Amino acid sequence: MVADVFFSDLRARSEAENKVARMRRLFAEAGFPQVIRERDLTAVKLHFGERGMDTFVSPVLVRAVVDRIREAGGRPFLTDTATLYSGSRSNAVDHLTTAILHGFDFSVAGAPVIIADGLRSTHFVEVPLQGKHFPRVLVAGDIAAADSMIVISHFKGHMLSGFGGTLKNLAMGCAPVAGKREEHLAKAMAAEAKCQGCGTCIPVCPAGALSLPGEKISVDRDRCIGCGECMTVCPEGALEFDWEVDLPPFIERMMEYALGAFQGKKGRVGFYNLLLSITPDCDCVPWSDAPIVPDIGILASTDPVAIDAASLDLVNSGIGLPRTLLRHGHDRGRDKFRGVWPHTDGQLQLACAEHLGLGTRRYRLVRLEGGEGC
Ligand code: SF4
Ligand code: SF4
Repeated sequence: MVADVFFSDLRARSEAENKVARMRRLFAEAGFPQVIRERDLTAVKLHFGERGMDTFVSPVLVRAVVDRIREAGGRPFLTDTATLYSGSRSNAVDHLTTAILHGFDFSVAGAPVIIADGLRSTHFVEVPLQGKHFPRVLVAGDIAAADSMIVISHFKGHMLSGFGGTLKNLAMGCAPVAGKREEHLAKAMAAEAKCQGCGTCIPVCPAGALSLPGEKISVDRDRCIGCGECMTVCPEGALEFDWEVDLPPFIERMMEYALGAFQGKKGRVGFYNLLLSITPDCDCVPWSDAPIVPDIGILASTDPVAIDAASLDLVNSGIGLPRTLLRHGHDRGRDKFRGVWPHTDGQLQLACAEHLGLGTRRYRLVRLEGGEGC
């Protein structure tokens, strides 16, 4: 099986080639009108961005999708779930406030926001699954209840999974806090020789698992929930998982959760990946680092594995990099995310998702010229 992935680059010399027009054209070309039926309650699954970062998907582009869903007969709502860590989205009140501050309100994005797992992330359903790790997974109640779904993902790096795109948006993004906890599970370890005792990591730990009893950090492994937050902030790289042991099962657990979020909606979900501002970190950190490669374009598909496979290949292809770099054989083909997070392997996500039947890594890239009206 080969899946079509539609790709629109970013060259623009007219109104018909702007990004809004490209989002609208991709919606039609990728067959998203067929995903939505008359009077569907259609979830638009987003990441509203942690407060302090600014490279989340623009609500102006989301509006283009919302309008298309309405034209197709659906009733769209924008949605996301609570975070495992303490931050600006750990309950529905803070989450809605952050979403509005980032422009995701009706006046801009054109649809209401519903936090899919409720006020304190207790609104979820159990989805049966015959997985290696889970006999059932937990899916946010209002995502499970939606008739159809358009998943819009900012494609970027991630310190645990290598990259974050569509599959991660399904796996972590559609799970309540209790599900996210099940997906994580590995325990942090401290490399004491590297620790400088700065204390930066202590306030970011949502489980209160870190302390500085002396000059070196101490991890209470009974308390650690494996969220990885401490690792994103430690300037010395003194906190790590046992990557060889912990990484493969973590990815497997994630992909079982991705499958659960997708179940019952086969043929009723469309996916966008936006390869813009491709930062090293995911949108859960309260900053936006400089992008690791130039902006590439926007992809759309009904296959969640194919769209992530195509996105990863495009990032690694060196597309958009200055010719001088490519002439020196500098970068083409190298895994850009492994350059930032050497212990990760983005291919694991793709292989595992394909194995579970979420989709295929074999894709045909269908390149669109310009936007709507071209
Ligand atoms: S991974 Fe780090 S931040 Fe997360 S719970 Fe464990 S010690 Fe705390
Ligand atoms: S942030 Fe890193 S260096 Fe600072 S106390 Fe924590 S483990 Fe040690």
